[in-house]
Order: sequence, then structure tokens, then C-alpha cells
Amino acid sequence: MNNVVAIDGPAGSGKSTVARGVAAALGLSVLDTGAMYRSVTLAVLNAGVDPTDAAGCALVAKDSIIEAVDGSVFLDGTDVGETIREPGVTAAVSIVSAHPAVREILVAQQRSWAQRNQGGVAEGRDIGTVVFPQARVKVFITASDEERARRRVSDEKSAGRDAEIADVQNAMASRDAQDSGREVSPTAIAVDAIVLDTTDRTAEEVVADIVRRFNDVTEQR
Ligand code: C5P
Repeated sequence: MNNVVAIDGPAGSGKSTVARGVAAALGLSVLDTGAMYRSVTLAVLNAGVDPTDAAGCALVAKDSIIEAVDGSVFLDGTDVGETIREPGVTAAVSIVSAHPAVREILVAQQRSWAQRNQGGVAEGRDIGTVVFPQARVKVFITASDEERARRRVSDEKSAGRDAEIADVQNAMASRDAQDSGREVSPTAIAVDAIVLDTTDRTAEEVVADIVRRFNDVTEQR
């Protein structure tokens, strides 16, 4: 499947905003794979399964029906778009997503989403490296630690939760370290990815840049 735009990057880098903008501009569907891992984590916690229990988490993943497409997130038919951003889920998601058996189940669903839609924009940590190595355009989005924390605090405040920059920055650093240090599918820059630093750029500029690259590659075919 190569009619795919792969957008990877760490927490708070602006991936979701950019992915939604690129999808809208190209008329493609957008898949938030982070929301998929968060949904499994919510299901794990709801079931009282220990997040470190790989087999237990895999069973929950297998039995869950998750949809994280075009801005909405459903777990077994319930809208969990807000619940999956709660601190309890955020604290456990890097543990649950490190289990290879959980990843295998979700990666298969991500590939079948692309097959069904004949492509799309997918965002996450391992999209360009593992899920869609043949993606037409691969982007790795970054931003400074301070800017990422600032953006996350502003998201938290919009969701009605109080957050301190220093706490958010520490929590993000710990999640990034777990996601980048795990054995299976760590956060990584694909060799053929373009790295875009969004610290001093607007989302619109970044979206326009990616859309131009996608159209350039498409024309060359
Ligand atoms: O993108 P977001 O910050 O919501 O992702 C939540 C978590 O899901 C990440 O910290 C990571 O542990 C996991 N994740 C992953 N692989 C992906 C997307 C997200 O392991 N492709």
C-alpha cells in the first residue's frame, strides 16, 4: 500500500494537527494510531488487567473493537475520544504498547484500514518504519521540548484539566524515553523520511509542505 502519508514523531510534536490538515487537503482518511494504543490501554485498565501482563493485554486487544479514524475514537461502540486522554491512560500507554503481541494485532488493523480506503494519512511512532514502509511520503515531525510541553499544557487546559509545564515536560520525557527505548518498533526516523521541525512554523505551513511533496512524488510516477 503506497498511497499513504506516514507521519511519525514524539508526543506533542503536532502530528495530529498536521495529519488532519494533510488528510483534508488531499481528500484522504486519517488514522490516529496513538488513539488505538490508548483505547487498548483504556480497555486493559477497565478490565482490571495489569498493564505489564503481555498475554492479558494481548487478549484484551484481540477482543476490543477500536475505530480511531477521522478525528473520532470508538472502543466497542462507545465514544472514548476524551477518556483516552485522561492521565491514567497516558501513564500506562507506553507499557501496554511495548508488548509485541499487542502491536501485532493493531498493526494488522492499521494495514487493513489502508487497504479498505486505498490509502490515507496515518500518524504514530512506527508508521514509516514498520506499518507502511512503502508509504509515498514519510515525515518525522519534531519540536523543541519546551514547545511540545507548552502545546500539551494548552490541550490539557482546553480539556478542562490543570497542568504545569514542568510536570508535563517530565511526563513527556519519560514516555518518549520508553517509546524510543523499547525493543519492538521504537519511535524512529525512517531512512527515507523528511524531518520537519515545527517549533517555529505554523501547522498550515507544515501541511502545505507535506502536500507539495506528496503531489511532487505523485506527478513523478
Ligand atoms: O500519539 P499519542 O501520544 O497519543 O500516543 C500514545 C502512545 O501510544 C505513545 O506514547 C506510544 O506509547 C504509543 N504509540 C505507539 N505506536 C504508535 C502510536 C502510538 O507505540 N504507532
